[in-house]
Amino acid sequence: MTEGIRLNQKSQGYDTTKYDVWALPRPILLHWVLNPGAVFNELILGQRLPRIMLIERHSPRPFAERLFVLCPGCGTIHPGRLWSGRNAFWHWLGYVCPTCGEFIPSLWNVFSLVLAAALTPLWIGPLLIFRESWRQYELGRVRRALESLPVRAKKIAWVRTGVLSWGGMMWLLCGVVPQLWAVARGREPHWMNAAVQLPMWLLAGYVWGLWMGHLMGKPGTPVSPDRARGTQS
Ligand SMILES: [Zn+2]
Repeated sequence: MTEGIRLNQKSQGYDTTKYDVWALPRPILLHWVLNPGAVFNELILGQRLPRIMLIERHSPRPFAERLFVLCPGCGTIHPGRLWSGRNAFWHWLGYVCPTCGEFIPSLWNVFSLVLAAALTPLWIGPLLIFRESWRQYELGRVRRALESLPVRAKKIAWVRTGVLSWGGMMWLLCGVVPQLWAVARGREPHWMNAAVQLPMWLLAGYVWGLWMGHLMGKPGTPVSPDRARGTQS
C-alpha cells in the first residue's frame, strides 16, 4: 500500500488539522445529492461520490492530488486518484477499499434513488446474484490502479473533455435520443430541435470544463512553519 495511510480508528480516524473533511451537509455534496443532472453520472456512468472525502489543507499540490477517500470500515485513507482516469467510471455500487476489500459507503442523488426504486424489478435479481463477483471485480480494478498510481495526477484537458465528452454526450442523450425514439414509435421527429440544442450543450460543456479545470488545479494554502511543526508531531 504505497500511499495508503493506516490510522487509528479509535482516535476518530483522521487528523482534522491536516485534512478538511468533506461530508454532508457540505454545499458541494448537497449539490450532488439534489441536482437532477447527477442521475446521469450515477446511473449511466456509474460515477459515485464517497460519503467522506478528505482534502489535504496545507499543500501546494493541485486539488486532484489533495483529495483522499476514507474507508470507514478499516480507517485507511486512500488517494482519490485511485478512482480517476481509466478507473473513474462504472462504480454503480460504490468504490471498493483496496485494503479491506469492502464497499466504501457512497452518496446517492435523491432522483437516482427515486428512479432506482421505480426500476427495482430490473436490478434486484442481478444485484443479489452478482454482488459478490462485482465486489471482486472492483477490488481487482482498484488494486491494479494502486500498482500503477502516478506520483502526480495526470493533467487533463478539461475544456476539451467538457465540450466533446460531456457536452457531446448530453446532446446525444437530450437532443438526438428523443428524436430517434419518436422515429421508433412511428412519430414525426423534430430534428431542428436537436440541431438547436447542439450549440447549447457544447457551450454548457465548455463552462463545465472551465469549472472542473479551475477546481482540479486549485492548490491548497501554503504551509506556515509553525503549522508544519504542529502537524508533524
Ligand atoms: Zn477498508
